[in-house]
Amino acid sequence: MTRKMLQFTRLDQKQPDKRPAPARKADFAEISLPLDLDRAGDQSSRCEQCGIPFCQIGCPLGNNIPDWLMLNAQGRMEEAYAMAAATNTFPEICGRICPQDRLCEGKCVLEQSTHEAVTIGAIEKHVTEFAFTQGWVTPPRPHKELAQSVGIIGGGPGGLAAAEALRKKGYQVTVYDRHDRMGGLLIYGIPGFKLEKSVVERRTQLLAQAGIKLETGIHVGVNLPFQDLRDRHDALLIATGVYKGRELAIKGDKLAGIHAALDYLITQNKTGLGDAVPAYADGTLNAKGKNVVVIGGGDTAMDCVRTAIRQGAKSVKCLYRRDRANMPGSQREVAHAEEEGVDFVWMAAPTEITGKDKVTGVKAMRMHMGIADASGRQTPMPIDGSDFTIAADMVIKALGFDPEDMPALFGEKRLDVTRWGTLVLDERTHMTTLDGVFAAGDIVRGASLVVWAIKDGRDAAESMDRYIKAKSRVAAE
Ligand SMILES: Cc1cc2nc3c(=O)[nH]c(=O)nc-3n(C[C@H](O)[C@H](O)[C@H](O)COP(=O)(O)OP(=O)(O)OC[C@H]3O[C@@H](n4cnc5c(N)ncnc54)[C@H](O)[C@@H]3O)c2cc1C
Ligand code: SF4
Repeated sequence: MTRKMLQFTRLDQKQPDKRPAPARKADFAEISLPLDLDRAGDQSSRCEQCGIPFCQIGCPLGNNIPDWLMLNAQGRMEEAYAMAAATNTFPEICGRICPQDRLCEGKCVLEQSTHEAVTIGAIEKHVTEFAFTQGWVTPPRPHKELAQSVGIIGGGPGGLAAAEALRKKGYQVTVYDRHDRMGGLLIYGIPGFKLEKSVVERRTQLLAQAGIKLETGIHVGVNLPFQDLRDRHDALLIATGVYKGRELAIKGDKLAGIHAALDYLITQNKTGLGDAVPAYADGTLNAKGKNVVVIGGGDTAMDCVRTAIRQGAKSVKCLYRRDRANMPGSQREVAHAEEEGVDFVWMAAPTEITGKDKVTGVKAMRMHMGIADASGRQTPMPIDGSDFTIAADMVIKALGFDPEDMPALFGEKRLDVTRWGTLVLDERTHMTTLDGVFAAGDIVRGASLVVWAIKDGRDAAESMDRYIKAKSRVAAE
């Protein structure tokens, strides 16, 4: 069926249906239901086909959104998929977990003109899922093999996007990851109710089928020296992400029952994948029957509170020092958490974790929003005499992440880092301060987004290709 475009005057925005909160609290399956062909086609036809597509500008990958919306509205599904896949390595993943309200959909002219944005993310997911059912998504095999090899440290979205791009060009690609599965935060950080793990594993399998070697259990700098990899490959990519969780630094912060957000989320994800995890089985990292307090207001905090709800916590509170309007987490995720029974304690900061050997509560102070700092963000200030205590037997720290000490881990002092510990890159070549060593993703940007890691991985792959070709030319002269 073919449809005319500009149907926003006739058709309202319809986001995909969500499973009702009582049902979704009972499992870790995705909460959004798939679109059917008609609804996806109708919603695509709302697009205004702007001369200057602001949605495309809002997408870090520069996806050609108006064109694939039009192709989808016309029922030209294979072409729609080809266009979506031309600029995005994992469109079905971005369609699920990009914060579209801050990216493509936030910039959509319909959103700016009160008609509500085209549901770009949901349609991107739909187009790619449909392509999978039709067998159009195939392993990224090269047309010809090249002798040169590249090593990629880190199998998250940044590393895997680069791996796919380099393999397509014919390079011999090996990805090394310290975990026992590829995917980085896609597999072990982000919970299944946002991104089911089968979606990630399906992609990893395609990469393996294309001939990319996926080596798990390799912790570079710990059980394999960094220099060995430099000797082994013609070029290297560091895509290791950022994993040092920020600390509370208040009285009682070492008591039993206080956990880092990622330890908690990784445990649940591994359990969901069928692994036996002792810390889950013995109750240490299982919220069942507990009063849980999560400290932080970002997307990681939202993932923790919603995980605790699904594990059967007695109560779940999210303590955040700013107000709702100033929280870094997506407003969509806050709404989901509230629907599922999470209690938000806004404008409150922890001052002490109480308990003798084990956590019994979190002491906190009410805050008010003070004057704005240099970045324009209001600073929360404590209100004297406003102390209160929340009962807790499990406290989860979701305060953000910093990079690990990469020069120390890799035993390489010449690897320069910024004052935040992220890697210094030449913006044009994506190369670090070591010859032939490139970098991508969170280890360059600091904690960011999947879509930016994909963009960085694709850009770094182009630079690595140019570097290896130039080196080969010099060697041949
Ligand atoms: C809980 C949580 C929820 C999130 N939710 C979203 C979301 O909804 N939407 C969104 O867009 N973004 C989200 N993000 C952010 C997003 O996941 C990251 O920005 C993205 O994964 C970064 O990709 P990356 O490839 O740089 O690193 P990562 O995904 O972190 O992958 C890095 C990989 O490198 C491996 N590694 C590290 N050091 C070594 C070493 N020395 N040797 C070998 N392997 C190593 C790690 O094991 C890991 O597998 C979330 C982040 C978290 C923590
Ligand atoms: S990749 Fe993300 S930002 Fe870009 S179109 Fe897809 S959902 Fe929007």
